[in-house]
Amino acid sequence: VPSADSLAGRFPLTRNERAASASLRAQALEDLHFGTTFTDHMAHARWTQDEGWGQHGIIAYQDLTLSPAAAVLHYGQEIFEGIKAYRHQDGSVWTFRPRYNAARLNASARRMALPEMEEEDIIASLVDLVRADHEWVPGGAGESLYLRPFAFASEPFLGVRPARQVDYYVIASPAGNYFPHGLEPLSIWVSREYHRAGPGGTGAAKTGGNYASSLLPQQEAYEAGCDQVCFLDAATEQNLEELGGMNIMVVDADGSVRTPRLTGSILEGSTRASIITLLRDEGRRVTEETISLQGLLEDIVSGRVSEVFACGTAAVVVPIGRLAGHGMEAEIAGTEVTRRIHDLLTGIQYGRRPDPHGWMYRL
Ligand code: PMP
Repeated sequence: VPSADSLAGRFPLTRNERAASASLRAQALEDLHFGTTFTDHMAHARWTQDEGWGQHGIIAYQDLTLSPAAAVLHYGQEIFEGIKAYRHQDGSVWTFRPRYNAARLNASARRMALPEMEEEDIIASLVDLVRADHEWVPGGAGESLYLRPFAFASEPFLGVRPARQVDYYVIASPAGNYFPHGLEPLSIWVSREYHRAGPGGTGAAKTGGNYASSLLPQQEAYEAGCDQVCFLDAATEQNLEELGGMNIMVVDADGSVRTPRLTGSILEGSTRASIITLLRDEGRRVTEETISLQGLLEDIVSGRVSEVFACGTAAVVVPIGRLAGHGMEAEIAGTEVTRRIHDLLTGIQYGRRPDPHGWMYRL
């Protein structure tokens, strides 16, 4: 990937009003949650069928004006990404594998019949936004600036066909821990009644509809006293797929690690891919395979499985301590390998450890 200096300026700062005073910003950065506070600016570009991408710029963070007939509001033609900027000890600001997210945004675009954008332009939008709002990148333990690129059908048209006008934005949100209790083990509700995606569907794309369909089972999870929902595959209803916004991994007592293979209905997480690489670097056996719920429950009881954890950009790496569902209950006690992986990954992201694969990108 070309350096940030060489990409900077593709999204020129066109309006410079500050939304927040320094003291408001300091207050906002003091008590960070996830996804509640937004920075002063956003990146924008517009695509039209006739002219392609244009109007690139960094503009003031503001409400959008949208036609009530904008196709996204009716048919959900929309994609998004999630990636973080990390402040290192020396004050510099870095992001993690931006090309991975740029390529995945384009893969989602293809599935949702939205226009692709050059990877370098996607990365440039992150560079220019973070440079404009660099003071919003928090520096505390576990803190980051969460970046949310997204694109949607803005053409006012009610016919069902791919829109001829699409808007792309990146907004940024200073973030603390996704789960209020940090590394405390999660309780997971295994959904039997609902699926988030099916064969030939949109599960491998990062598109709003997948998340909309996860909300009711997520509500069911909360009502059952759980933190998150885990989905099984729609075809056989037997195999683990992923959580609503995280991939899932299983650690065996012999130290090897397994994760559900990519079936086309699972999102291919950047965190998942990175953990697989880091564990193999350590000489551990890691496999992507079909993992049945029944087999997992038996392996937890027999002691073959010692840990289960969830991973994703927002949540990082979190142990799963309990699996629950209709007529089902299992406790998992171990967290040792999970903590080790959390330390390895965040060590690289926050600049405390060397970056052997060149994943870090200075913004
Ligand atoms: N699965 C789903 C459904 C997700 O929304 C996410 C978050 N993007 C993940 C997995 C993890 O992906 P990543 O590690 O790239 O954040």
